[in-house]
Amino acid sequence: MSQFRKSRPFNGGRPVRNYQNRGGSQNRRQPKKAYIHPSKFVQSASPQTEQVYVPEHSFKDFALVEIIKTNLDAMNYQHPSPIQDQAIQPGLEGKDIVGIANTGTGKTAAFAIPVLNRLITERASKAIILAPTRELAEQIEQQCRVIGRGSGLDGVLLIGGVPMGPQLRDLKNNPRIIIGTPGRIKDHLTRGSLKIKDCNIAVLDEVDRMLDMGFVHDITHILSNTSTDRQGYYFSATLDARVRDVINKFSNNVTHITVKSGDTSSNVEQNIVMHNAQNKLDKLHDILIHDSTSKTIIFDDTHRLVEKLSKELAVRGFKTEAIHGGKSQSQRKNALKKFKNNEVTVLVATDVAARGLDVSDVTHVINYSLPQSYDDYVHRIGRTGRAGKIGNALTFIDEKVER
Ligand code: AMP
Repeated sequence: MSQFRKSRPFNGGRPVRNYQNRGGSQNRRQPKKAYIHPSKFVQSASPQTEQVYVPEHSFKDFALVEIIKTNLDAMNYQHPSPIQDQAIQPGLEGKDIVGIANTGTGKTAAFAIPVLNRLITERASKAIILAPTRELAEQIEQQCRVIGRGSGLDGVLLIGGVPMGPQLRDLKNNPRIIIGTPGRIKDHLTRGSLKIKDCNIAVLDEVDRMLDMGFVHDITHILSNTSTDRQGYYFSATLDARVRDVINKFSNNVTHITVKSGDTSSNVEQNIVMHNAQNKLDKLHDILIHDSTSKTIIFDDTHRLVEKLSKELAVRGFKTEAIHGGKSQSQRKNALKKFKNNEVTVLVATDVAARGLDVSDVTHVINYSLPQSYDDYVHRIGRTGRAGKIGNALTFIDEKVER
């Protein structure tokens, strides 16, 4: 049984080699990249002095069950973040919520607190939470576990890259909180191991990313199978027409909350590195040996290129790990842990694997290959320059192409 009162992971699944990577397009032919003029990769950092947000509420003001209040205290959550300040109350009132917020704003607790409170107080309620990547789904599961500790709620984490067996076992306990990625959740629905007709709470986290990753049909299929009398939470960094379309399909009366977080790229010193086929790796080497380069994420296009680059850098004496969708979940987790602990200082990654990564002290992001779009670029460089620090982003440009 996977309960919030225990501290072991939801599923004890071992990694398998034949993982499933529904979200990753990395082994398929990549779509043609949008042309981005190199001047867009050059910008001085102009750190914004962050305005101090004065929350309207304290956690004590919300009608939360004691157990959640105690857990928030133990987590040292003293003041609600802006998104929490604005989303928790309407969430507790049962409203549908659209939250426009980035990772790092406290958005997970903004939905987890009202969702868990409702599950604890209404025995018949059930929740389903969808996230674009396994890592994000795991992070959500961990936060729910901590916020709901001691409540006795059962949950299940349904992500790809791990065997079905433990998930099937956990599902037999009729968990009341289902967290996962759209691909694996749809697989369970298809094989009949998951029933969500009685899910009356649905959370879509990072809707824009899920759409980027081609999950539109899976999301629609999953949500259409939940209760029609459903409270919806929709979180997204952007609210474009596609995101609006999805939300409009499932809710007609939403409370909008936008958290203006400063443009992360304003904290990032951005520049380009001109290279040719002969000197590309040496140029990267020179950057990595520089004193100021203490923790770096390098982006490259495909599984194969990421592996190759990581190995080449290891041969040159750098402590590296590779992270991409071709690795099992536990390998990805392990690589990330080593990077977070500074056991390795260079992480070579594909875009999909790096999505939602929350590592606070990355000094450099290096675009060894060009991003697919400017949007992806902004997302990549948002991995550095966090928590008020100045970050650096360097983009490799081929001399032959740009003359
Ligand atoms: P998120 O945006 O949900 O990924 O949260 C970013 C980080 O902020 C996580 O490490 C949370 O544990 C932390 N966090 C969220 N809300 C609060 C809060 N009210 N007080 C302190 N830390 C928080």
